[in-house]
Amino acid sequence: AADWSGARVCVAGLGVSGPPVARALLALGAQVTVVDGRDDDTNRARAAELERLGARVLLGSAAASAPPEGTGTVVTSPGWRPDAPLLRAAAAAGLPVIGDVELAWRLRPSGQQWLAVTGTNGKTTTVKMLESILLAAGRRALAVGNVGTSVVEAVTARPGYDVLAVELSSFQLHWSSSLAPDAAAVLNIAPDHLDWHGGMDAYAQAKGKVYAPGTLAVYNTADPRTVRLAQGAERRVGFGLAVPAPGELGVVEDLLVDRAFVADPAHAAELARLEDVRPLAPHNVANALAAAALARAAGVPAEAVGAGLRAFAPEPHRMAPVATVAEVGYVNDSKATNPHAAEAALRSYPSVVWIAGGLLKGADVGELVRGTAHLLRGAVLLGADRARIAAALAEHAPGVPVVDIARTDPEVMPEVVAAAAKLARPGDTVLLSPAAASLDMFRDYPARGDAFAAAVLALADTPGE
Ligand code: ADP
Repeated sequence: AADWSGARVCVAGLGVSGPPVARALLALGAQVTVVDGRDDDTNRARAAELERLGARVLLGSAAASAPPEGTGTVVTSPGWRPDAPLLRAAAAAGLPVIGDVELAWRLRPSGQQWLAVTGTNGKTTTVKMLESILLAAGRRALAVGNVGTSVVEAVTARPGYDVLAVELSSFQLHWSSSLAPDAAAVLNIAPDHLDWHGGMDAYAQAKGKVYAPGTLAVYNTADPRTVRLAQGAERRVGFGLAVPAPGELGVVEDLLVDRAFVADPAHAAELARLEDVRPLAPHNVANALAAAALARAAGVPAEAVGAGLRAFAPEPHRMAPVATVAEVGYVNDSKATNPHAAEAALRSYPSVVWIAGGLLKGADVGELVRGTAHLLRGAVLLGADRARIAAALAEHAPGVPVVDIARTDPEVMPEVVAAAAKLARPGDTVLLSPAAASLDMFRDYPARGDAFAAAVLALADTPGE
């Protein structure tokens, strides 16, 4: 590991990743200055805490416009865009800029295995499944990334972990340079965050950085973009829902099987049964196979895969059933913040009243609507970009009734659910799977999902008509 003692480090951003990064660097004896453009109560409280530990903290847009004099390295919050003034100034001055994951990689204890997961959708689900499988195999394992412990805290924890299941966003990969996981999966690549990266090629390229030299590349046989990325790798293993070829994991009848990490590919190893995967939907079986491939790459025995999947608790806001009211199922998939995620959910039910809308972040919904029009009973649209979804429905699903919700305050959810209930018939599923980010109307996607669930439960409590 590099010697950080006495190093002058600027930590950009006081959000989720900044405080643990600053604490770790202070503990190593670095001179830390934290900057953040927002000078509000939350940030002032965080600043006071870091100042007690010996950091200097500068708040406000002037402070966030350039790294302080004498800075040697900038550690940025992954969410900061490369064109943020401070990061542009750092680049112009030739300063190294890294993200929290790159810092954690450099600080990791020797011998710790890193299994990485990236992709447009399914990352959190897959690292949690992987963690569960590793624990079932008796390994000291932890899932890190967007949820729970920060990656920097995980590598500095005492006693340490044998193996980390690391969720990596395209932003974190953008800000990594020497990161080289033992094995890494790219689950899928579909348009998302194109406004941040500046286009599909740059986005795919950032994802591809997870396949470093020496990394075992785990790719999705059904996703040509991941297949192409893996082609450059020295070692690779595919996963998919089909009967696997030698060197792949796949599905045979109702079994998940492995023909890659076996002595003789003529004899596939049984990993788990399909019903061990929850929620049982095709995209989630793919997530389970990716998790299994990474676990097998780390030396986990086949039996631990099924045990780990059975012990896995599904994450909230991801195709989570809320209630059944008047023979209509209500499902919260608020985490579907892009069209690719919504498509996976829509394809999991035979007849759907779809609740969608929010911020599309530059994504196109035409393909999604064309591919799922036959599944739609109706649609209820909300949020900033709802007119774009309405236009796609008018073009590709002309017979489908659409209710437009013009109010954009978060208290509108009961009206949304009532409109959906009116469109639904017995046996249908009312699915909140917005295909868009929530920030135009809600604090975040959990707030959106919670508002939906509360409205559904209120509907369930209303005396029947
Ligand atoms: P991420 O961490 O990549 O955002 P999550 O596991 O939180 O992924 O799931 C995000 C959304 O994508 C959820 O709505 C979920 O139902 C959906 N999803 C999960 N796995 C997949 C997949 N393999 N393909 C498409 N959509 C998926």
